[in-house]
Amino acid sequence: VAHQETHGFQTEVKQLLNLMIHSLYSNKEIFLRELVSNAADAADKLRFNALENDSLYENDGDLCVKLSVDKEAGTLTITDNGIGMTRDDVIENLGTIAKSGTKDFFSKLSGDSAKDSQLIGQFGVGFYSAFIVADKVVVRTRAAGESADRGVEWTSEGEGEFTVADIEKAERGTEITLYLREDEKEFADDWRLRSIISKYSDHISIPVRMYKEPIAESEGPDGEKIPAQPGEWETVNKATALWTRDKSEISDEEYKEFYKHVSHDYSDPMTWAHNKVEGKTEYTSLLYIPSKAPFDMWNRDQSHGLKLYVQRVFIMDDAEQFMPTYLRFVKGLLDSNDLPLNVSREILQDNKVTQSLRTGCTKRVLQMLERMAKNDAEKYQLFWNEFGNVLKEGPAEDFSNKEKIAGLLRFASTHNDSDEQSVSLADYISRMKEGQDKIYFVTADSYKAARNSPHLEIFTKKGIEVLLMGERIDEWLMQHLNEFDGKQLQSIARGDLDLGDLEDEESKKAQEEAEKQVEGVLERAKSALGEKVLDVKFTHRLTDSPACIVADNNGMTTQMMKLMEAAGQ
Ligand code: ADP
Ligand code: MG
Repeated sequence: VAHQETHGFQTEVKQLLNLMIHSLYSNKEIFLRELVSNAADAADKLRFNALENDSLYENDGDLCVKLSVDKEAGTLTITDNGIGMTRDDVIENLGTIAKSGTKDFFSKLSGDSAKDSQLIGQFGVGFYSAFIVADKVVVRTRAAGESADRGVEWTSEGEGEFTVADIEKAERGTEITLYLREDEKEFADDWRLRSIISKYSDHISIPVRMYKEPIAESEGPDGEKIPAQPGEWETVNKATALWTRDKSEISDEEYKEFYKHVSHDYSDPMTWAHNKVEGKTEYTSLLYIPSKAPFDMWNRDQSHGLKLYVQRVFIMDDAEQFMPTYLRFVKGLLDSNDLPLNVSREILQDNKVTQSLRTGCTKRVLQMLERMAKNDAEKYQLFWNEFGNVLKEGPAEDFSNKEKIAGLLRFASTHNDSDEQSVSLADYISRMKEGQDKIYFVTADSYKAARNSPHLEIFTKKGIEVLLMGERIDEWLMQHLNEFDGKQLQSIARGDLDLGDLEDEESKKAQEEAEKQVEGVLERAKSALGEKVLDVKFTHRLTDSPACIVADNNGMTTQMMKLMEAAGQ
């Protein structure tokens, strides 16, 4: 072997390998799903690159994955004729973890293998899962378009290091050989492999093939001749792109497995929506809501968006143009018949088709959430706990869907004693007092601070519900959400609080009386505070506290001021 080098794995890879072998053992067959999923991605990438350069096919356009076993040697080999990898690709892809959120992930590990295996599920496992069942892995690969002598061999026993060397490889693509551990020889069994493929990889759009041994001519029970059958490569999966199939023919299990393939997530999705749209614009969308927020949801450069196909040809990952930012947790794909095959990110940027696809996909997701909220409140609560704070960015970003988004919001409230955000604006309205025409809320640094706000006193006394907002994003949200269902949203910490019809004549008179009795107090307070305040006024909102700070009706609330300060304004 030429130009052989030994490299150490990135520290995180070592940790991941260790963790995986110990915590995913009970679900070890998923390694095959991961390797087949990578092979299918490699086929997608080749097809895409070949749109511009047909010669990359090297006269072999029959893209597929082949599984072969050598029982004697105890090996399983997964071969694809996809895009392949160069030496640099190999070192980068099979020696490090490039994923965003990696740092977060490793900082969350506890050492408790039950908890960690949950986390690893969220993080995704990928190529390294091969080491769950193998104590040695050899990858032989050659990138499409390179000459046969530009092949690379990667070898590792999954401990601290791997070696790479230059090799001759006539066929384009990647061949991965697993040297199965002593007690994992079951994965060299033909039937076992077929059943794993049909369970996890049926939806893969390229054929997964296994070799069927030739059968010699034989005699049936009545002496009739059964002809010999030649050996052949047999396709063992459905091999049609799942989203092109009819909804009614796709099982939930298939949808779930497909999600794992497109999202590189390891856990089941929470829900999904599959739609074919025909007419002026034609497209298919398959959109999933994950069950867990990714580690990097709050990272601004996090990759998000849909996988884009044009007429069933893979075009790009993470096409963020089709989802507004407040729905960045949505995973899935879009297959358009209207976009050109040579579409680029730049072309997508301002394109009429992009606009209408984005509108369509946004509508689907909001509908899916509405349906979940209506039919399965418990599940919706789980969704809200994971992604609610992202959805709160919606009213500011998406004016046209403001009312819909507002209907999906959930808040903590004085209606109950829980800090869980579970009250919808519609719930609130249904409990409004006679004569009440506004939705009252208070924002603060935390749920606790909101709960203890002195502004609440008069409301508690009158038995009026107030929404309690203690998240950073809430202030931003409420700047952009002024009404819902024709009812104005009113901060109870702002300006003169006019309780309107909720105030009775008698108490108004009593208040005037009371104010007369303490004449002079206002003047003294004003001169003591000077420029620090705009005004000092009497209030009847308080029942226990002597005084409170109120924002001017047109000005910023104290919460917003704090936010601006924190942002260095
Ligand atoms: P992911 O698929 O989520 O990117 P993996 O750990 O499964 O992560 O794979 C890491 C990377 O290695 C892939 O992104 C790809 O670039 C490369 N890779 C893995 N398997 C193949 C393959 N069969 N052909 C080409 N590239 C591959
Ligand atoms: Mg993968």
